[in-house]
Amino acid sequence: MAEIGKPHRRTVLGAALGASLAAAGTGKLAAKPQEPRVYQLLGKSEPTQQSNLKRRAANDYRNSMLRFGGQLSSPIEQLFHASTLPEHQQFDVLVVGSGYGASISAARLAARLAPGKRLAIVERGREWVPGEFDDTFRGIYQQARNQLTGPKKRTVVNPLGLHNVIMSDEINVWTGNGLGGGSLINAGIALIPDADVFSVFKWPRALRSRRVLDPYFLRVAAALNLSRTPCNQTPKVVSRRCAADRLHPYRGFFDLSPIGVMYDERYLDAFSRNPQEMIQRPCTLCGDCITGCNVGAKNTLAMNFLPLARSRGSEIYTQVEVRSIEKIDGLYKVDLVFFDDRDCGVVRRYTSVWSKMVVLGAGSPGSAGILMKSQPKGLCLSTALGQRWSCNGDGLGFIINKKGCSKIGGVGALDDRQDDIGPTVQTSLHYQHRPRLEDRMLIQDAAIPRAATNLFKVLLQDAQLTRSGVMLGMGHDGSAGRITLEKGSVVMRWPGLKQAPFRKAMWAEFQRVAQASGGEYKRLKLFGDNLVSVHPLGGCALADDPIEGVVNADGQVFDGTRGGFADAAGRPAVHHGLYVVDGSIIPSSLGCNPLMTISALAERIAEGILANPAHRDLFVPLATMAKK
Ligand SMILES: Cc1cc2nc3c(=O)[nH]c(=O)nc-3n(C[C@H](O)[C@H](O)[C@H](O)COP(=O)(O)OP(=O)(O)OC[C@H]3O[C@@H](n4cnc5c(N)ncnc54)[C@H](O)[C@@H]3O)c2cc1C
Ligand code: SF4
Repeated sequence: MAEIGKPHRRTVLGAALGASLAAAGTGKLAAKPQEPRVYQLLGKSEPTQQSNLKRRAANDYRNSMLRFGGQLSSPIEQLFHASTLPEHQQFDVLVVGSGYGASISAARLAARLAPGKRLAIVERGREWVPGEFDDTFRGIYQQARNQLTGPKKRTVVNPLGLHNVIMSDEINVWTGNGLGGGSLINAGIALIPDADVFSVFKWPRALRSRRVLDPYFLRVAAALNLSRTPCNQTPKVVSRRCAADRLHPYRGFFDLSPIGVMYDERYLDAFSRNPQEMIQRPCTLCGDCITGCNVGAKNTLAMNFLPLARSRGSEIYTQVEVRSIEKIDGLYKVDLVFFDDRDCGVVRRYTSVWSKMVVLGAGSPGSAGILMKSQPKGLCLSTALGQRWSCNGDGLGFIINKKGCSKIGGVGALDDRQDDIGPTVQTSLHYQHRPRLEDRMLIQDAAIPRAATNLFKVLLQDAQLTRSGVMLGMGHDGSAGRITLEKGSVVMRWPGLKQAPFRKAMWAEFQRVAQASGGEYKRLKLFGDNLVSVHPLGGCALADDPIEGVVNADGQVFDGTRGGFADAAGRPAVHHGLYVVDGSIIPSSLGCNPLMTISALAERIAEGILANPAHRDLFVPLATMAKK
């Protein structure tokens, strides 16, 4: 490819978005004629190509779904019919969202549901079929839930979009929106935090030792069918290993990280079925995990906990958003909107349903947003709602002009693929040797998904993406952020974040890793200097009392009436039957990818719900199950 001139960041982004919008037919930001080369580079994003791999993945999914009538989602008419029944006969357990916290809760609670009781999951996004994820820049842009540029920036333009990007003044947050939540677009890296994380005073006393969560970590690891990258399998692994050897030549600094990806057939039976009876295929190392796996190799929640929940009798309603919750005579009235796209466009259909128990798993900041919108309807909560919000100390850095080859450009699930790129993330550099927790961090490698390779070829000035590297950092940020509700939308506020010391420390470490990789550090300011986080945590923090947090160690939501205390002895009061189980309950940054901690907490909370005598009428005792 010819040498590329250096365009300004805004020019490149503007042209990229312009090209996408023009292609999408809206045309408002169409690329200017004086930028033809950039436009040509970014605009020629090839249309998603069909391939045998993609076709096979879609067929596999549909075949796995035959036992559920063709899909995980239940017919929406069933939900509208339920809403017409007398209040007490509607739902017994309503699980909101379908990320790790929600799916695990649904699967575990459904397994012990008493005969005749109803459990339903309501998820705002759509059900996604592997093999049908878009892998072009235009396609990904169109899948953004919120408008990313222009006068309508930040408003919800595609309520069913897969990528939920919430832009605030200091920080932009990216989460998944669809059946499976973040698992649809994450890298699937499954790490357990340093033991010291849990000794921070922000955690409730019952959880102030990692040992409490150990059995739950094991349970989750088994259900997620984790693997480790086979040794030195891809150039980006080799490159990061060499850099690690130069930086800290001692054991434990470099790690091939556990990941929820089928690298081979070890978990699959003769019919390619995984332990949850979903057909999966070995990973093709295509590098596209974070725009959706089109091979069926990634262990998303749609491949494990969600089919488990469905096979145990859960109903699953997709394209249904919870707006708010009211508590009336000990029951919860939940206001919903169904995004109906069966004809052209999306039509909003409103209804409400009643449930004895509500388990919030809408993620961070989703669950805090629902609780905030429920306050004007009389739901009295802790004044700590929205606080202790963390971006998990996330940082993003690039290496340019590297010596030696490392292929980081995703190639997608195309049949003529030749390069082995690897899953998005494969390795971690651990800084656990540092004495102070706030100085520790984690730096991972990454691949750029196929859809964004043209953009990054320009931004990194690397026509083949073989001389560049990605550094994904996680650290300890003090969880001093706050979620607020502004004009009906959740926004994150964190004054001073842009120049926070933890960011500067990470940039310094990025510099060292880049040098050890034989290249230069490049700090791309893709969104001004805003921090971009894919690991939002907190807002409904776990705590011992309602002064410090929003839920107790068992996930029960504190009742803020009369200051939040039930009696003169100072026992906190809770809303019986109202729980939060997702990343929003985590009260501090974790310094590593959070899915394992979210999942382990959800396992523990589900166990607590099942053991709670107050819910005896809803669940079958374990002893009875054993006799059966
Ligand atoms: C690009 C990317 C890469 C990542 N890589 C990793 C990784 O390698 N390892 C790791 O540990 N973590 C990773 N993460 C983060 C991880 O995926 C999240 O921490 C995790 O999914 C959070 O789980 P959760 O249960 O809190 O909820 P989420 O997964 O956020 O799910 C919440 C769900 O609730 C739905 N919802 C929201 N509001 C409503 C409402 N009002 N009504 C109904 N439904 C609603 C949403 O659509 C969503 O499906 C990554 C994230 C991204 C975006
Ligand atoms: S690398 Fe490709 S095939 Fe492997 S899990 Fe990621 S998206 Fe799927």
